[in-house]
Amino acid sequence: MMTDSKADTNELRDLYRELILDHARSPRHFGRPPTVTHSADGINPLCGDKLHLYLEVADGGHIDDIGFEGTGCAISMASASLMTETVAGMDSSTALGYSATLTARLTGSENAGEIPAGFSLGKLRALEGVREFPSRVKCATLPWHALRAALSADTRPASTE
Ligand code: ZN
Repeated sequence: MMTDSKADTNELRDLYRELILDHARSPRHFGRPPTVTHSADGINPLCGDKLHLYLEVADGGHIDDIGFEGTGCAISMASASLMTETVAGMDSSTALGYSATLTARLTGSENAGEIPAGFSLGKLRALEGVREFPSRVKCATLPWHALRAALSADTRPASTE
């Protein structure tokens, strides 16, 4: 059983804040990949976050490449950056598992779902800090909604509303 002292908890929070700021300042996988087989737009009207998500998915469902473009707050950009870093090279089904799990955890759903076997949330835990700021939860979940829309080949823009 792990018991974090107050100091450790604060240290962890600072680390996560640094991680979010780092990804917001220099987003990974920013830009459109050379080959795009799936894409989706994501819009969060509450905050004004907009993103375009691009994927190159192989016939077997493997995510060969991923990238995004867009503008938005630090949380949405960091979440998109962390998401692309996480799911690049995954199978679509695993990526969708992450999307469902993370969205449920951020929105505080009772049915938080299971992280796909053999994987852990890792850096994505940094996003869980937004649970303290309900108005920012949709900023963090936006890229994950877009991922689901892109992989389900739903061409309607993914909106958090
Ligand atoms: Zn936002």
